[in-house]
Amino acid sequence: MTYLLQALQARAGEFISLRRDIHRHPELAFNEHRTARLVADKLEGWGYAVHRGMGGTGVVGSLVRGSGTRRLGIRADMDALPISEASGAGWSSVHAGVMHACGHDGHTAMLLAAARHLAEQGSFDGTLHLIFQPAEEGGGGALRMMEDGLFERFPCDAVFAMHNMPGIAQGHFVLREGAAMASSDYATVTLTGTGGHGAMPHRAADPIVAAASIVMALQTIVSRNIDPLQAAVVTVGALHSGQANNVIPAQATLEISVRALDREVRATLELRIKALVAAQAESLGVRAQIDWRPGYAVLVNTPSETTLARAVATELVGAERVTPQGPPLTGSEDFAFMLERVPGSYVLIGNGTDGSPGAGGCMVHNPGYDFNDDNVATGSAYWVLLAERYLATQEQASLS
Ligand SMILES: [Zn+2]
Ligand SMILES: [Zn+2]
Repeated sequence: MTYLLQALQARAGEFISLRRDIHRHPELAFNEHRTARLVADKLEGWGYAVHRGMGGTGVVGSLVRGSGTRRLGIRADMDALPISEASGAGWSSVHAGVMHACGHDGHTAMLLAAARHLAEQGSFDGTLHLIFQPAEEGGGGALRMMEDGLFERFPCDAVFAMHNMPGIAQGHFVLREGAAMASSDYATVTLTGTGGHGAMPHRAADPIVAAASIVMALQTIVSRNIDPLQAAVVTVGALHSGQANNVIPAQATLEISVRALDREVRATLELRIKALVAAQAESLGVRAQIDWRPGYAVLVNTPSETTLARAVATELVGAERVTPQGPPLTGSEDFAFMLERVPGSYVLIGNGTDGSPGAGGCMVHNPGYDFNDDNVATGSAYWVLLAERYLATQEQASLS
C-alpha cells in the first residue's frame, strides 16, 4: 500500500502547515470557533456538504458517492488544554496558558488531509460523514453533538477515531477489541451531623467519624464486590471537615473518583458506593447526600470493526508495525459515547519514542508535548484506506 502513503506524503506539506497553524492558535473546549471555521471552509471547498455549529462548535462534512447504502463516520477532535506551552516549537501557542498538548491539532489535520484526498480521488461507494467534535477534554463534546442529533441527522453504520500516543514508535498502530479505555465517574458525598463541643461527643452527631468509617468501608468494594479478574478504582481524593481540635463540626464532604473497564462493573461500583454510604451514615447517626456525576463511558471497540481497522493498518504499514491487541488504558475518552450507539473502533498511532520536550515521545498533557508531523501522511493514509475498504465499490468487493 506504499503508493497511497506516497500519495499522501507528497501532499503532506500543506497539511503540516495547517497543523502548525492550528497549533499556534489553540482553543479550549466549546470555543473552537477559528478551528471549526477553518475545518468547515476547507471541507466546503472540496465539495463536502457541511453542517456547522453542531453541539456547539462541532462540524460534520458529508460526501456521497455512487449508489452504496453503507454510511461511515470518522471522528476527529479539535480542542486544546489549559496548559502553558514549553515545547520550544517554532509554531508554539500564541495564547498564554492554552496549548494543543494532546495532539488534537494533528487529529484534525490528518482527517482534513484524508478528506481532500477522498474528495479528489477517493474510490468509494456510499456515504462518508467526517465528524469534527469540540471539547473532548472533559467537556463531553461527543455527547453534545449526539444530543444535537448527530446520528439522527447523519446516520452511521460504523464510527472510527484515532489518537496519537507518545512512547510508541511513530506510525505504529495499536488496536484492541473490547474495552480499551476506562469509564470515569465522580461523586461528592456530603455528611450532615450535629456539631458540638469536642468534650461532649455524646451530645453531637460526628460527621468526621462517619467520613472516616465510609473511607475505610469503600475499600471493600473493589476487594469484596468486584470480580478479582476485573479492573476497578475507587479513590477518595478529598476529605474536608472541621477546623479546631475541640469542636465537632456539623458537616464533612468527600470527593470520590470511580473508574472501570466494564459497563457492569461500572454499574456495580455506583450501586455499592451509594448503598454503603447510606448504610454507614445511617448507622452512625448522620445524614448522607450523594451527588453522582457520570463522566465518560467505558470505551468498547466492537469485534468486526476492529478486525477491519486491524486489516487496514496492516495493509498500510505492514504487520511488523501493528499491535493487533494492545493493553487497555485507564484514561478516558468521550468517543466512548459514540461507540455506545454505533459499532466501531478507536485506534492509537505511535507519536514517537524520544521523550525530550518537543519530540514525539513527550507525553500528552505535558507542556513539552508536540504532535509528530510525520503522522500527518500515515494517519491520513489510514483514513483513506479505511474509507475505501469500508465503503468498497462493487469492483473492489468482487476483487477481495
Ligand atoms: Zn487529552
Ligand atoms: Zn486527546
